[in-house]
Amino acid sequence: MQLPKSVLIDDIEYKVEEVSNKELQLTAEDLKGDYWGDTRYKKASIRICEGMAEDEAKITLVHEIIHAILQERGFDRQNNDEAMVDGLAHALRMLVKQNPELIREVMS
Ligand SMILES: [Zn+2]
Repeated sequence: MQLPKSVLIDDIEYKVEEVSNKELQLTAEDLKGDYWGDTRYKKASIRICEGMAEDEAKITLVHEIIHAILQERGFDRQNNDEAMVDGLAHALRMLVKQNPELIREVMS
């Protein structure tokens, strides 16, 4: 899957890259990480595990984007709630997929 090279979170450009699972695991101690992806806030970097099914890679990217949004907005406590972050990721992706006209209107 072709991921975007970066994503703007407020005025911070987060770099997006696919890395090996081994690379994610090796550096897991110094970040709030997930098995399939992680977000390194100081580096403004989102890493997604390579080789995943397309839908898994997409939802993982949305999950990490929500982490970055919560971090940049100062919601530190909420950012530790993995179940909430994951629920929001799935809900947001489905909202956008199922309501493209609404999204165009609301976001314009
Ligand atoms: Zn997470």
